[in-house]
Amino acid sequence: MKIIRCKSDLRQLTDAWTRAGEIIGVVPTMGALHAGHLSLVTTAKAQCNRVIVTLFVNPRQFTNPEDLANYPRTEDSDAVKLAPFNVDVLYIPDPSEMYPAGFATSISVSGVSAGLCGGARPGHFDGVTTVVAKLLLQTAGDAAFFGEKDFQQLQVVKRLALDLDLKTKIIGCPTIREDDGLAMSSRNLRLGEAARKLAPQVYVELSQTAAAIEQGASVPQELARASAALSAAGFGPIDYLELRSAANLAPLTHPDQPARLFVAAWLDGVRLIDNVAVG
Ligand code: AMP
Repeated sequence: MKIIRCKSDLRQLTDAWTRAGEIIGVVPTMGALHAGHLSLVTTAKAQCNRVIVTLFVNPRQFTNPEDLANYPRTEDSDAVKLAPFNVDVLYIPDPSEMYPAGFATSISVSGVSAGLCGGARPGHFDGVTTVVAKLLLQTAGDAAFFGEKDFQQLQVVKRLALDLDLKTKIIGCPTIREDDGLAMSSRNLRLGEAARKLAPQVYVELSQTAAAIEQGASVPQELARASAALSAAGFGPIDYLELRSAANLAPLTHPDQPARLFVAAWLDGVRLIDNVAVG
């Protein structure tokens, strides 16, 4: 696995691969790799001739400077974790490589980015779409792999690729969970011991609520019950707990089409997000 930090070095490799007709897969990450990220790598390896994992903690998608400062940075152990996967390149650009002096472009996707994380973190998705567009172009990716853990992000990136005629096919991969159901996330490292024990309750509530809605319970009543249960358990604030269309993320009060239940809840100063399918 080559570690590359400079986009011109990366371009030399990807040009040669493209000329040889090889399919390039990309797995964009912010590092602090866990089994969720590695599942994307496994899928990419199975579908592509070449795989590039990118590691970039993108300052433009953080809406809180403290969150950016506290984001775990574990480059050396990330490289060790990737070693068994026979990835071709670990691309670790510097912020100055991504945003050189004079950088003035921002890409904004409307519609699917409204509400949920887009509502709770204004500007977040503009940061995501701008960096993802750059990474897909820099890596010349034919396919890029994103987790359903960040379901809204996956929909936003799909829209971006479609609207900008990018050649990259966007592929969603299932959420990988700890044994107790907690969705794996780099931010879980910041949970204290007691909070870590409580955190799986998010998935318990999501699963129970999804099942109740599937069995015909009133959506507003179930959402209110689950929100109250999370607050009573010690979560707070709860940024959102909502049922939305899986296809276009429109808010739903009846699950009359494939839907997803989304939550973002704070615990121990850490923002946990998760989502499950309904129907
Ligand atoms: P991040 O490093 O958090 O920006 O995540 C990089 C990619 O890994 C994104 O496509 C995420 O959706 C995906 N990802 C993060 N956690 C998980 C998980 N538990 N299961 C599957 N994919 C994940």
